[in-house]
Amino acid sequence: MLEIKGFSLSRRRALQRLATTTGAALTAPMAAHAATTEQVPASGRAQKPAVQYQDHPMGTSACANCANFIPGSTPESMGHCTIVAGNISPHGWCVAYVNRN
Ligand code: SF4
Repeated sequence: MLEIKGFSLSRRRALQRLATTTGAALTAPMAAHAATTEQVPASGRAQKPAVQYQDHPMGTSACANCANFIPGSTPESMGHCTIVAGNISPHGWCVAYVNRN
């Protein structure tokens, strides 16, 4: 049996559990992304219903602080999104939200 110096069985199990947990954490956003990309029209951007877009924030999460938001000419004016079609409110939100901070 191969012995790895400094690694006990319990430490290996801890690392295996960490890998499993990390994998699950990475899989959930990927599944959401897959669901989103399945509904992307020929224009290359998803329709608002496909990403559950709403014209109001989800708590402190809003399009204005999303990495995908393309602001309008003023902070309050409608902007656009790199992945969702149409005019996008800076106060909106959808399931593809990515905090830019
Ligand atoms: S991905 Fe969603 S939350 Fe982010 S800017 Fe686009 S519509 Fe808003």
